[in-house]
Amino acid sequence: MSTSVQDPPSLPSWDLSELYHAVDDPRIDQDLTSALEKAQRFESIYRGKISQPGISSQELLLALDAYEGLLRNQSRPGCYASLHYSTDTTDTARGALTQKVREIGSKISTHLIFFDLELAKLPLESFDRLLSDNCLDKYRHYLEQQQALAKHYLSEAEETVLEETANCRGRAFKRLFTEVTSRMKFKFEKEGQTTELTQSELLAYSYDADRSLRQQASQSLAAELQNNAHVLTFIHNTLLHEKQISDRLRGFEHPESDRHLSNELDKAVIDTMTEVCVKNFDIVHEYYDLKRRLLGLDSLAHYDRYAPLRPQKQQIDYNEARQLVISAFQRFSPKMGDMVKPFFEKDWIDVPPKPGKRSGAFCAAVTPDHHPYVLLNYTGKARDVMTLAHELGHGIHDLCAAQNHYLDYHPVLPLAETASTFAEMLVFEKVQETLENPEEHLALICEKLEDTFATVFRQISMFRFERRLHETRRQEGELTTERINVMWQEAMQEMFGPSLTLGEDHQWTWLYIPHIVNTPFYVYAYAFGELLVLALYARYRQEGESFLPKYFELLSAGGSQAPARLLQTLGFDIASPAFWQGGCDLIRANLEKAKLLASRQVS
Ligand SMILES: [Zn+2]
Repeated sequence: MSTSVQDPPSLPSWDLSELYHAVDDPRIDQDLTSALEKAQRFESIYRGKISQPGISSQELLLALDAYEGLLRNQSRPGCYASLHYSTDTTDTARGALTQKVREIGSKISTHLIFFDLELAKLPLESFDRLLSDNCLDKYRHYLEQQQALAKHYLSEAEETVLEETANCRGRAFKRLFTEVTSRMKFKFEKEGQTTELTQSELLAYSYDADRSLRQQASQSLAAELQNNAHVLTFIHNTLLHEKQISDRLRGFEHPESDRHLSNELDKAVIDTMTEVCVKNFDIVHEYYDLKRRLLGLDSLAHYDRYAPLRPQKQQIDYNEARQLVISAFQRFSPKMGDMVKPFFEKDWIDVPPKPGKRSGAFCAAVTPDHHPYVLLNYTGKARDVMTLAHELGHGIHDLCAAQNHYLDYHPVLPLAETASTFAEMLVFEKVQETLENPEEHLALICEKLEDTFATVFRQISMFRFERRLHETRRQEGELTTERINVMWQEAMQEMFGPSLTLGEDHQWTWLYIPHIVNTPFYVYAYAFGELLVLALYARYRQEGESFLPKYFELLSAGGSQAPARLLQTLGFDIASPAFWQGGCDLIRANLEKAKLLASRQVS
């Protein structure tokens, strides 16, 4: 892929040529056609055979191997299309390719839908008999998960219609959301000049030392969201309604039930985690009281949340960030240091912010036999260094999990944030050591606390908001923007208590959160991941190097085991409130550290 001429020369774009050369690469069509033909052949061989009570374990093994291979091959064009699209969502050719791949993907799926449905129809006795044969061990987890899903499947005809129409229902609205939010431009005035910023550029001002710039960024965000409120609210309402129908038809009791099922977690575990976090909101209240005093302000507004407590370092050069991340990984484990290098050396990362590029950052796993890619919008802020560490942590996780077959490759969401959060912790420790004075140390601890709040308590507040949003839509019908604004303000204000007031501008900010739109109830996975990582990091501190094999084993498991079972092997009981409280206590310990450093500063 060529590099756009406007890119700052120092910031590399990713090279997707290992997948395909361009939108019109003829291999895309060849691969799609071949995937479609293979799916048709698969159907002609196996339809009606899988649900036969007498099917042998060898027959099922052959079918599963073929099925896994089909899904693996099919995912390549899809990955390329969505990665290429994400760096310029305004390019109509890329949008069209994404849509085409999705449409053919749906066609392929219609030939494969029967497979999981027939597995689900297998009588329990046959199922037990099959699983008692070791030859199916590698698919044991997948088969058990299919059994759990069985009662939520509809008939094959219904599933086929839903799949074929998905691209002009929910998926289309999700795409519209990405396009609307990626095209938003934010007016910003600085030193007498008005410019138009991308979302990533604008949000970088939330961390600016100048309060008026922070406030202006908040107002500009609110103004542009308000401009788009009609279409964004419409998208939310449509998706809420679609999920309501789907949950009713599929027999999911609560709006979040299907997420728990795909996360392989019991509702009780997440309810316990949520309750424990809410009980610990006073950590946030106390922290922002301290921050208000440190900033010397009478009261804090929402745009002061990330106000810096130390003079901002000049831009952190991307190369400097790269060195820092590599050396932090290297110190933890030379193996991890080596694993991360090709991301830089082989251009697996798309670094610069560009007009039309998706905002934020992500790491995209392709298949076990192809490396992942990372997307950034690097603006040189300290936060961007942590984001780089975070996404590369995901990358490490994907590389470790590559020993699994495709059906067990992706870790379930609550474990998907383990390596990313752990990687941030490694970089944080490294940065902490480079600090010269207590003021800087205090500022760094405060930044860490703010990040942790954003990952734990903010996500829990969003989870509660989402729950209420779905429930209210189900009770009251279509919701107005204003109605949702109120729910959003209430949910988020609870976390801050009296320590900080969320102003008018803040009420619009639910409108552009991609997770709520793209993957309902994704957010609690962040809190789960961070609290788990606090426990893992504490363990690493205790055990030193002997912790490393256990850590890599956890990552290498990918999606091959349910979280509760996998974490049990490390001695963690996620059903117990004490486990989650342990994580919150570690956050509180950081708050106490900050208070102590602050009291020394004052005296
Ligand atoms: Zn992440």
